[in-house]
Amino acid sequence: MTMLDAERNMSATDEKSFTPKNFIREIIDDDLKTNKYAGKVHTRFPPEPNGYLHIGHAKSICLNFGIANDYKGLCNLRFDDTNPSKEEVEYVESIQQDVRWLGFDWDDRLFYASDYFERLYEFAATLIKKGKAYVCDLSAEEIRRYRGTLTGPGKESPYRSRTVEENLALFQRMRNGEFPDGSRTLRAKIDMASPNLNLRDPVMYRILRSKHHRTGDTWCVYPTYDWAHGQSDSIEGITHSICTLEFEIHRPLYDWFLHELEIHHPRQIEFARLNLTYTVMSKRKLLELVEEKHVDGWDDPRMPTISGLRRRGYTPESIRLFADRIGVSKNESTIDVALLEDCLRSDLNKCAARVMAVLRPLKVVIENYRDGAGEELEAINNPEDPSMGSRKIPFSKVIYIEQDDFREIPPKKYFRLSPGAEVRLRYAYIVKCVDVVKDNKTGEVVELRCTYDPETKSGSSQSGRKVKGTIHWVSAAHALDAEIRLYDRLFNVEDPNSDNWKECINPNSVVILRNCKVEPDLASAKPQDRFQFERLGYFCVDDDSTSGALVFNRAVTLRDTWSKIQKA
Ligand code: ATP
Ligand code: MG
Repeated sequence: MTMLDAERNMSATDEKSFTPKNFIREIIDDDLKTNKYAGKVHTRFPPEPNGYLHIGHAKSICLNFGIANDYKGLCNLRFDDTNPSKEEVEYVESIQQDVRWLGFDWDDRLFYASDYFERLYEFAATLIKKGKAYVCDLSAEEIRRYRGTLTGPGKESPYRSRTVEENLALFQRMRNGEFPDGSRTLRAKIDMASPNLNLRDPVMYRILRSKHHRTGDTWCVYPTYDWAHGQSDSIEGITHSICTLEFEIHRPLYDWFLHELEIHHPRQIEFARLNLTYTVMSKRKLLELVEEKHVDGWDDPRMPTISGLRRRGYTPESIRLFADRIGVSKNESTIDVALLEDCLRSDLNKCAARVMAVLRPLKVVIENYRDGAGEELEAINNPEDPSMGSRKIPFSKVIYIEQDDFREIPPKKYFRLSPGAEVRLRYAYIVKCVDVVKDNKTGEVVELRCTYDPETKSGSSQSGRKVKGTIHWVSAAHALDAEIRLYDRLFNVEDPNSDNWKECINPNSVVILRNCKVEPDLASAKPQDRFQFERLGYFCVDDDSTSGALVFNRAVTLRDTWSKIQKA
């Protein structure tokens, strides 16, 4: 009954979405006009495999792959795996899955910076031969001290004047494993007085005996990110290296390396990274949340990871829509997470089938409905999309409604059920509450007795009579049991990026309801299927779900409940 995912499994490439011009596209347009890269556009998405991808990465993925698609260019997926100690195969796999799920394809262009270790080593030797790099025996701590400050120049290393021959020999011996970890580095010979600290003889190689997820024990010298990144882009023939703003200050260094090596020189363009309210995005913090079990893993539906968003019920379309709506700019800003939630609402409003589910059931017996009788009523699957058709839902003498939809003493303007009041059951009849059954001991309302008006069947010609309220329900004899997890924001302050960020974790970020009732059509629902539960919000079948034990996650409420709470 849901629209098959396969049917709408339209990749981002086929989609005719309107992507507004931005400063990056303007730069590319200019480069195309001047034929700078022979009319080619080639981008890449370069994650470090030290964690799962998050919504910030999604911005970068949509940008890089989106530009390549629109300019009929190419986009590579490259793992920037230069740091052997924090990287894992699990991350490499999840990253590929997430990029594909978002709707993008790198074809046969999956690369690893580690594949270039040999080339990078040769490039380093080239710089040594030009007198532009040297082996330095200072410790990491000494290098830091010699480096100087933002206001004062640095001091030259005493090893800076080694001869080319000496440097070549020492660098080879570093590679051969003749020196202990951390005892020597290879450094670029640039300018210890440069106002840009990145140009004060930056480290290119360090000695580190650590097993690499791809190269194993082959190497005991590893390139720094700064040394590997630009050259990797160059090797792949990237035309436009799009990265986040913190790399702007590194650009003169990347330019220097490429210029000295006289190799293909991509153009680096920086944009502001995505920050979201009520969200932490740093991989270090996300890892902490996982390791300290504040959440149930990287794909916990409360995580801003792509796998978490997917499990929560986000669609690739909604995330791409979000990326389009936020655009790109050079100014740091924080986007309201409500915008992300709204993108999901607007996508699911179009494509999610409506169904009825009762979260906290209250039994209702319809006294004048015949025992054992039943009928099937017509319900529309999606009023936004007539092509999604309709379905039959069973009605019978005993139904469940939401506990919330009954008040013994109704407040003003309460148009739901209360003693003596009438309400319409969605797609069914008008019912009237004639009696309330309570638990003798606790006084809790355990059952309502109602009568129905047979003249008011929805959709029939005589259904004319109107009442103010309409509520959802399910037939007790036909309903399926379900567990429903009500997720909410993981942090309860707008900016959780303070030192005490873990104290801002929302203690009510998940409420698990185990006695829920859902309509029988959901028996065939599979993990990842998404529905609108009428009046309640959008829900997604969880990966834990089986046909015997349905589990749903609330993806998002129908309206932004937080803005109301904030004002109250
Ligand atoms: P860290 O520095 O914590 O290791 P990172 O966020 O830099 O992580 P990478 O794996 O290096 O993670 O990121 C891959 C790509 O995604 C980079 O090009 C980076 O600029 C981009 N990216 C990362 N975070 C964001 C963000 N919040 N918004 C937009 N782009 C991002
Ligand atoms: Mg990074």
